[in-house]
Amino acid sequence: MKKDGHTHTELCPHGSGDSTAEMIEKAIELGFSEYCITEHAPLPKRFASEFRGSIEGLETASLEWSQLDDYFKLCANLQKKYGDVINIKVGFEVDYLPGFEKEIKQFLDEYGAQTQENILSVHFMKGTDNGFWCVDYDTVEFADGFSNFLADPQNLYHRYLELIQQAVSANLGKYAPQRIGHMNLIKKYQDYFELPAKFDANNLELITGILNNIKRQKRELDFNTAGLYKPYCNEVYPGSQIIQMACEKKIPLVFGSDAHSIAEVGHGYHLTDFIETLDRK
Ligand code: ZN
Ligand code: FE
Repeated sequence: MKKDGHTHTELCPHGSGDSTAEMIEKAIELGFSEYCITEHAPLPKRFASEFRGSIEGLETASLEWSQLDDYFKLCANLQKKYGDVINIKVGFEVDYLPGFEKEIKQFLDEYGAQTQENILSVHFMKGTDNGFWCVDYDTVEFADGFSNFLADPQNLYHRYLELIQQAVSANLGKYAPQRIGHMNLIKKYQDYFELPAKFDANNLELITGILNNIKRQKRELDFNTAGLYKPYCNEVYPGSQIIQMACEKKIPLVFGSDAHSIAEVGHGYHLTDFIETLDRK
């Protein structure tokens, strides 16, 4: 089964605006039989007051609460239009934000029944000033927000991985997302900041704990090829070390192009061959 498990829509405020229908047509053309629409869920309303980064970044990070109806309508129409040809699953890429678990669970409790597959991702982390900053907006925000941690990049990594650990452990209720998004997003600007390619022993220990948890919960990992096409990342998320470890633990890695445009749909799918090689060992 050929599946794209992570895609965005024309409603995404930082997307290309490409028509979602045409994105699905591209997936059909490429021979995909399953397609997950996982738009960025609206952020908890209270979050803005704890955010210190670029306002534009915050405002374009996700759907607005007022767009939820349009989103579900768009997805339902697409399921109706293309449902005979491709299995379209609808859901969200939900942000994990420490301290906002109640709000996140509330959102999932309210809308989860209308979804089939969801992804839990960490895009925001507390920075030098203890306010939240965006991990993947741009290099300027990354440098501003995390300046104090850049001298010790393994510690920077550790801070991010701790959030992933919290995300996986959080009680998000019955509709807790089954898949963890781009688990090493903290490396998006690795080549710009000359961050280490490998996680050190201490981080690997933390990763082992996270993966054991994911395994126990029968959850999945996003095998996200978007990183490969980012100018300063040049690596598939979650990176070779985590991919290898996840394969050893037989944790499912689900391909996701993280497409925000027609051109990006399904890109890098052939790299899933690599997982199969590891799987067989
Ligand atoms: Zn996005
Ligand atoms: Fe994401």
